[in-house]
Amino acid sequence: MIIRGVEELKLAGRRVFVRVDFNVPIAQGKITEPHRIDSAAPTLRLILAKAKKILIASHLGRPAGKKDPKSTLAPVRDYLERSLGQTVTLAPDCIGTEVETLIADPRHKIILLENLRFHKEEEGNDPAFSQALASLADVYVNDAFGTAHRAHASTAGMVRFFKVKGAGLLLQKELDYLGRALSNPEKPFVAVLGGAKVSDKIGMMKNLLSKVSSLLIGGGMAYTFLKARGTAIGKSLVEEDRVALANEIMAGAKSAGVSIFLPTDHVAAQGIKERAITTEGNIPPDYMGLDIGPKTVSQFTQEILKAKMVLWNGPVGLFEEEPFSRGTRSIAEALGRSKAVSIVAGGETVAAVRQAGVEEKITHLSTGGGATLEFLEGRKLPGIEALEEQE
Ligand code: AMP
Repeated sequence: MIIRGVEELKLAGRRVFVRVDFNVPIAQGKITEPHRIDSAAPTLRLILAKAKKILIASHLGRPAGKKDPKSTLAPVRDYLERSLGQTVTLAPDCIGTEVETLIADPRHKIILLENLRFHKEEEGNDPAFSQALASLADVYVNDAFGTAHRAHASTAGMVRFFKVKGAGLLLQKELDYLGRALSNPEKPFVAVLGGAKVSDKIGMMKNLLSKVSSLLIGGGMAYTFLKARGTAIGKSLVEEDRVALANEIMAGAKSAGVSIFLPTDHVAAQGIKERAITTEGNIPPDYMGLDIGPKTVSQFTQEILKAKMVLWNGPVGLFEEEPFSRGTRSIAEALGRSKAVSIVAGGETVAAVRQAGVEEKITHLSTGGGATLEFLEGRKLPGIEALEEQE
């Protein structure tokens, strides 16, 4: 099976439907973080240069299957017009006769369809809704990696109605880098995992065990592992019902020859707003570990600098609070200094990389949250599967 790239599709004289993920944060009608739109812009420009018409479709927020002015794509239209330097027409809906009339009018070359999730049939992957969407265009392009783990009408259901379909440039880039991490990683391959919970990351950890050379674990999830190893963790975040699993993962790592690095020192406090201390080894009973300590930072940094490929997902401390932000910033800086192929996944982790000012140094900033995790778990994503065709 193969997936065609948008650049190989015949687009001349055709109406192209492109599914993007423009689910961006908006405050007072202004987009506060346009990364997702900017990331899809090269695909839009490529289509615009060749096609007769482009229909851009996305979801935004959680409008619960009905029209909700709070979730209109109007701010996205404004941003897109400035970014593309061309008029973008916002359709009043994503299907229906009004939309069809707009599409038939040659004056509108770029049409942004209104929020797909104004229809509950979108998330329901409804066949009639899928067909109505598909009837609007001749070619289907998916560039919405962030939604590829969902079998929705616009990512899965409508795709079977198209003979000509393919992946946008952003989707291709995600598949290239994330796929490489799983199938052909440069060694040593180091994964840095953090974040609050072990339970969210188990699938990914298990799948990565057969690929990585070492696993550096920080953040809230490290304490479940430390507890499993018999370290006192005070009041740190822990998932008691995952302690046995943490032991299982550590045993699995040992038999796969993968080194697991856990924090050896911590920045701890009695509460988030209380005075922070640095402790080594056991954490005092009333304290919680809220960041990796300086010794752990230098050990993790050394491992990162030895690597030829690094995957990082999840902050290694409560980085939103300044006293506990150093560990995460230091990991970002280590990645900035490293010559390895570096892949950073997860909204907060990408934000941390930006805060540290090293985003230009990172090989690939993944735009997916749940989609990236599911991909790294080794699961087939419905939005990707839908694009596959016989060679
Ligand atoms: P996740 O969504 O699972 O990737 O978790 C990210 C969140 O975990 C961030 O909001 C971090 O502030 C938080 N976090 C990271 N380390 C810790 C820690 N040691 N204790 C509590 N929260 C943490």
